[in-house]
Amino acid sequence: MKYCPVCKIEYSDKAEFCKKCEAHLLEKEERPEPVKTDYKRLIKICLYTGGFIVFIMLIVYVYYLLIT
Ligand SMILES: [Zn+2]
Repeated sequence: MKYCPVCKIEYSDKAEFCKKCEAHLLEKEERPEPVKTDYKRLIKICLYTGGFIVFIMLIVYVYYLLIT
């Protein structure tokens, strides 16, 4: 999607210039929501990931104990 920076009219991607003022159209960038740094969530994810890795290691450890 493109838009005219002067009159803010949206055009299709094929259009190059504004039909009204003939200004060069700009590519409309879809701005994503500003990502808030959620430390609590980050810590939670880290804990889960760490716990998961420990869990896997435990399984591998038990597995090695069983086969040896
Ligand atoms: Zn225009």
